[in-house]
Amino acid sequence: MTTTLAVANQKGGVAKTTSVASLGAALVELGHSVLLVDLDPQACLTFSLGIDPEDLETSVHHVLTRGVDAADVIISTEDGVALLPATIELARAEADLLTRTGREHVVKGVIEDLGDTYDWVILDCPPSLGVLTVAALTAADGVLVPLQCETLSHRGVGQLLDTVHDVRRFTNRDLEVWGVLPTLYDGRTNHARTVLDTISETYDLEVVEPPIPKTIKFAEAPAAGRSILATSRNSKGAKAYREAAANLVLRSQRPRSRQTTKR
Ligand code: ADP
Ligand code: MG
Repeated sequence: MTTTLAVANQKGGVAKTTSVASLGAALVELGHSVLLVDLDPQACLTFSLGIDPEDLETSVHHVLTRGVDAADVIISTEDGVALLPATIELARAEADLLTRTGREHVVKGVIEDLGDTYDWVILDCPPSLGVLTVAALTAADGVLVPLQCETLSHRGVGQLLDTVHDVRRFTNRDLEVWGVLPTLYDGRTNHARTVLDTISETYDLEVVEPPIPKTIKFAEAPAAGRSILATSRNSKGAKAYREAAANLVLRSQRPRSRQTTKR
């Protein structure tokens, strides 16, 4: 059984991509097979795993809009995760898909075609609530929302949850919100915890523990083409992602909630 997780937040810079790369590497350490899908035309995930998009002849764009077989495009990375890479061409996919019937289901179709090859498929969403994010949510079993715990960070959460609600209503009634992952977390202040508690209460969201600490080590990892789990094995950040990944494994084993399985 494949568990498909969308990592989404329309705000940029909240550590979506860093979380996808780090959780992917942590799940590989736990013995799981993992496919990461770069759904952001900026291709930051692809870059950060050591692949230069300019060197690629085919990418996720060809899979989503031209019917190219994902298995022919997926590459293996030094981190041990498989990657369906993106290039800037993906920016056109939004427009190309806009007029396409069934566009919300394109990512789901790709994952279904892969059968049970992977234990986990993790989708790195772009910083918008456009076609690609909706297609990712349509394909997902769960959505994880990285959140930087600052005073104004809740402003987009309601909008994201509205989109999740629409997806549940129209394209994926089984989608579950797995919760927020606190990122860029400054544990020295009470402020971050207060913001986190307020957001989780206001929107009735679970918090996936532990918060990922803000540390300079993260700036170094992408340049090395590896996740922080390899570049700073014993750093607080790497340990936090390992623990969060173990909690996601437990979350994936939880029976589905009544609310979302009700037909
Ligand atoms: P997003 O995908 O949401 O736009 P990124 O994962 O690209 O966000 O992260 C944005 C920036 O923050 C990157 O430069 C990344 O290296 C940095 N970053 C991510 N997590 C941390 C952290 N825990 N501590 C310090 N810097 C971080
Ligand atoms: Mg990103």
